[in-house]
Amino acid sequence: MFSKDIGIDLGTANVLIHVKGHGVVLDEPSVVAIESESKRVLAVGEEARRMVGRTPGNIIAIRPLRDGVIADFDVTEAMLKYFIQKVGGKNWYSSPRVLICAPTNITSVEQKAIREAAEHCGAKEVFMEEEPKAAAIGAGMDIYQPSGNMVVDIGGGTTDIAVLSMGDIVTSSSVKIAGDKFDSAISKYIKNKYKLLIGERTAEDIKVNIGTVYLNGQRAEMDIRGRDMVSGLPLTITIHSGEVQEALWDSVSSIVTAAKSVLERTPPELSADIIDRGVILTGGGAMLHGLDQLLADELKVPVLIAEDPMHCVVKGTGIMLDNLDKVSKRKF
Ligand code: ADP
Ligand code: MG
Repeated sequence: MFSKDIGIDLGTANVLIHVKGHGVVLDEPSVVAIESESKRVLAVGEEARRMVGRTPGNIIAIRPLRDGVIADFDVTEAMLKYFIQKVGGKNWYSSPRVLICAPTNITSVEQKAIREAAEHCGAKEVFMEEEPKAAAIGAGMDIYQPSGNMVVDIGGGTTDIAVLSMGDIVTSSSVKIAGDKFDSAISKYIKNKYKLLIGERTAEDIKVNIGTVYLNGQRAEMDIRGRDMVSGLPLTITIHSGEVQEALWDSVSSIVTAAKSVLERTPPELSADIIDRGVILTGGGAMLHGLDQLLADELKVPVLIAEDPMHCVVKGTGIMLDNLDKVSKRKF
């Protein structure tokens, strides 16, 4: 079916695939359900995500890239192969070129293994690119000019901050504080304050629906269900935005500190460009309410949320595939 190049955003929370001429053809959570004893893969992606926190003892739902490192390589490889095949791997009439953006902190051994997994799926050539670069390009920045562009990509496992100029990263930082840490901070806060245990999915729902890091008079509340630690029984309580803001404070402060340190290390000419152009936020965490205002206040530069922030990296891979001559071909 496909003979075109494909771009893959192998994220810690979501995997997206772009096929040249077809746009984004796959967008699924990076979750795999396996049978714990046999290690047999039972479900991948959305189907596996529905099982998180709901599996019987013999089945586990894992996020193999969770903290931005490959926790379980075999499972990562199985997931990547499943997704590539799902978008037509078996039916390619000519071997495609594949460009993959993986988490920034993976080792060269892991990168090599990812390349091999893609090659086994029929890729003719595999290119690996740095994620902040793809995010910036996908957000519409022209990073090939001699001027400063700053991107902050807030994913599930990591926040990647980078200043780019002339097609390369000038200064950067990657911290393991992003969407997952926000969720666990919310769970912890509710456990301490209300002695209520909530699941990962509930914590994420709270963050997405009423979460904020910059309360501007606007308040919201939400009823949440969990298990009362004292009675052991199900219990419903009401949570307010202000409480979520309190819960998220420490995590968000670490992101602000990391972004400041990147700016401090950036050459002055490039900083001046960033004041003119603003910082662009990408990744799912970019949509956390108030994060743009908070960063703008703290960094003293304009901050903009990219259009369709969760698609920036994969869109960037598509654009980079069209300009492969500019992409350094990294062999391992
Ligand atoms: P990754 O690149 O690591 O796979 P993504 O860019 O796909 O991550 O972002 C996933 C993260 O974004 C998750 O932690 C998810 O909870 C978070 N997220 C998605 N939508 C929102 C929203 N509206 N507000 C806050 N966080 C969000
Ligand atoms: Mg990402």
